[in-house]
Amino acid sequence: MTAGGRFTPGAAHREIVFLTGSGISARTGLGTFRGPDGLWALEPETEEAMHADLLPGSLPQLWRVWGGMARIARGHGPTPGHRAIARLGAPVITQNIDGLHQAAGSEVVAELHGSALRAVCLELRCTWSAPLSPGEGARAEDHGVPGACPLCGAPTRPDVVLFDEQLPQHALELAMRLAQRADLFVAVGTSGVVFPSAQLAPLAASHGATTVLIDIAPPVGSRTLFDHVIAEDAHEVLPDWERRLHRVGGTSFLDPFLA
Ligand SMILES: [Zn+2]
Repeated sequence: MTAGGRFTPGAAHREIVFLTGSGISARTGLGTFRGPDGLWALEPETEEAMHADLLPGSLPQLWRVWGGMARIARGHGPTPGHRAIARLGAPVITQNIDGLHQAAGSEVVAELHGSALRAVCLELRCTWSAPLSPGEGARAEDHGVPGACPLCGAPTRPDVVLFDEQLPQHALELAMRLAQRADLFVAVGTSGVVFPSAQLAPLAASHGATTVLIDIAPPVGSRTLFDHVIAEDAHEVLPDWERRLHRVGGTSFLDPFLA
């Protein structure tokens, strides 16, 4: 399973499940959003607008910030890491709201923090939602969706989980099902030591999965949480995995990396 000491997946890994965080999107310019030099640190009033108890007065800031983020993501497109995961056909649990896994072609994506590419109704019981055409501005209409819900008339909002808000139940349930059925659980570009990955990786391990963290700067404590920690660039590791796994197929016993 190892080549030059580094873990690589093999033929025994039929159910690979990824958990991704901001690190996989860092190349798009989105990854620094929450960091010490990120947008929130530069614009403290923007961070204030991320708190659910400031709704609906904070809606203009939400549209400006999340609609703008969606526009950056769509303009940049997926990274090599997103593309490799999609070509592997593996389901993804993500903490990101940038829609880049779907843009890369991933079909099963549990979005734990929602999506900046989608609008929903401010009224929790209302089921309306619509994709954005992200632009610039502080109004829903600037991002291609109506400001008032077509079903109930309440204001619309970006479908992003704010501080003080619950993670979406359907995404959490999907994430837990995926973690339980994985035989290889791979965290990419997420701290690995905070919720939800701190719970999901052990859940996968308790159901028999091998657990791996790929992070160019693994956080303190991650080595006790994962079976393998690969302190390298995911945009090099994942395309390499894809090449190796796509060579498995009939002739895997000849593959020197799959001893
Ligand atoms: Zn509504």
